[in-house]
Amino acid sequence: MDCPICGSDEIEILNSKQKSSKKKLTEEYLLKCEDCGHVFKDIVSLKKPRPYRLIISEQDKSHKTTIDLSPSDELKSGDVLLSDLGQVEVTSIEVNDKRVNKAKIEDIDTIWANSVEIPARIGFSVDLHGEVDSYKLDLDRDFEIAPGDVVKIDKHVVKVHVIKTQDRKLTSGFAKANVIKRVYAKPVKFNNYDYDLTKDIFKKHHRKEL
Ligand SMILES: [Zn+2]
Repeated sequence: MDCPICGSDEIEILNSKQKSSKKKLTEEYLLKCEDCGHVFKDIVSLKKPRPYRLIISEQDKSHKTTIDLSPSDELKSGDVLLSDLGQVEVTSIEVNDKRVNKAKIEDIDTIWANSVEIPARIGFSVDLHGEVDSYKLDLDRDFEIAPGDVVKIDKHVVKVHVIKTQDRKLTSGFAKANVIKRVYAKPVKFNNYDYDLTKDIFKKHHRKEL
């Protein structure tokens, strides 16, 4: 956009407004030339949204769908999109058979994403002195667990000792379920507990430790 009076490209955007009709999407700009002060309007037509291939990973399976996006924008890993299967977070973008972290939407072949609506699956180990009851739990992604929490799980009342997250081991603080890999806990002789995870058990197994 150059100034129609003096030809300068030092243009300040005073205001912009998107307009959508059945056939096209336009953005109307009110502009001011920083050199001569001339104020003028410019209309830029944007491309209408079109569907893009979207593959959403969820635990062990994946879903194929499409999502309508406006080709004028840019997409990058970490962006959150609202798909027909709920909110998803972009993990990578395929452009010309290559996986990239950032691309102009019009160049994209496929968008890869993780669902952020499905529960987080974590491991929960109860140390039974040489034997372990090991559980898989499905929890809300925002559910917080802290070392020191007293928890009812199955037939046990336990105290959380260590939380292993994607990148560290916590013995204090707290972690949200979406970053937790496994929680390690030991039975305690309490009748009261902070919360009950029994209903969230997806799978259980018992093993002897060597
Ligand atoms: Zn000018």
